[in-house]
Amino acid sequence: MAGQVAREIAPGVHMLTLGRGVAASNAYLVRSADGTCVLIDAGWRGSARAIDAAARQLLGTGTRPAAILLTHIHPDHSGAAGALARGWGVPVYAHADEVVMAAGRYLPERSMPLDRWLVVPLMNLLPARRRAAVEAAGDITDVVRPLDPSGAVPGLPDWEYVPTPGHTPGHVAYLRRADGVLVSGDAVLTVDLNSLVGAVSGRRRLAGPPRVTTWDRAAAQRSVESVAALNPRVLAPGHGPPLALGTARALHALARRPWAASRTVRGTVRPAPGRGVPGLLRSPGALRPARPEGRCC
Ligand SMILES: [Zn+2]
Repeated sequence: MAGQVAREIAPGVHMLTLGRGVAASNAYLVRSADGTCVLIDAGWRGSARAIDAAARQLLGTGTRPAAILLTHIHPDHSGAAGALARGWGVPVYAHADEVVMAAGRYLPERSMPLDRWLVVPLMNLLPARRRAAVEAAGDITDVVRPLDPSGAVPGLPDWEYVPTPGHTPGHVAYLRRADGVLVSGDAVLTVDLNSLVGAVSGRRRLAGPPRVTTWDRAAAQRSVESVAALNPRVLAPGHGPPLALGTARALHALARRPWAASRTVRGTVRPAPGRGVPGLLRSPGALRPARPEGRCC
């Protein structure tokens, strides 16, 4: 993983896939119009080296992302945030409703089915000291700060965050309104993790978040509707490949049935043959290269 190169999926938006198979999750190195670079999401706890290496490759040694932004606090998205933030000397931002989860402890009112069915019973089998050590390993309270209620995004003045609660209480998506690029976290995915076949095959599908790790399904459904209303042109999800949407029809269909994956998605963003990096859709169905490979975001 340490040799992975971030793939540019839209101008200044570089995707890293961390982990493999059903455990794979995406992080993004994003550069704003003024040149600042930030990291959105941070993969699993063991992803720090791979992300740091990709950041060095994009930014050059000696330059680091200015901040880490989280869509939500779950171990597959915030796992390496603490180690990277401490190593880089930068803050981690999450929605104010999410920050309370930064200690890594079980909170019954914010729990998901997997916590109740599996994680808590297993943790209760551990000796108290071991349990405390496991919780401390995921604790990012020393580096986390709440996002500004205005919707402004630290380090990305041309972006805004959009509350998309449901998968977790303070889940957000990050939107660059000028060209419709949306980093959607787990509010909307492009792989169906609610189906064994979908999860194992990795087949491209617009889908809602995994039920077993979702805090409030009704709120998650409303958030799919919120994402559909944004009409994103490029969807950069927490799981699955990026998707260029020529039409928001599939998203609106998903909003009506978020727990049944849409079968009408088209237009995955692919690297242009021989060009190295893909770009943003000029028009539905047409891709253009964004910039030469290897240059920073
Ligand atoms: Zn996830």
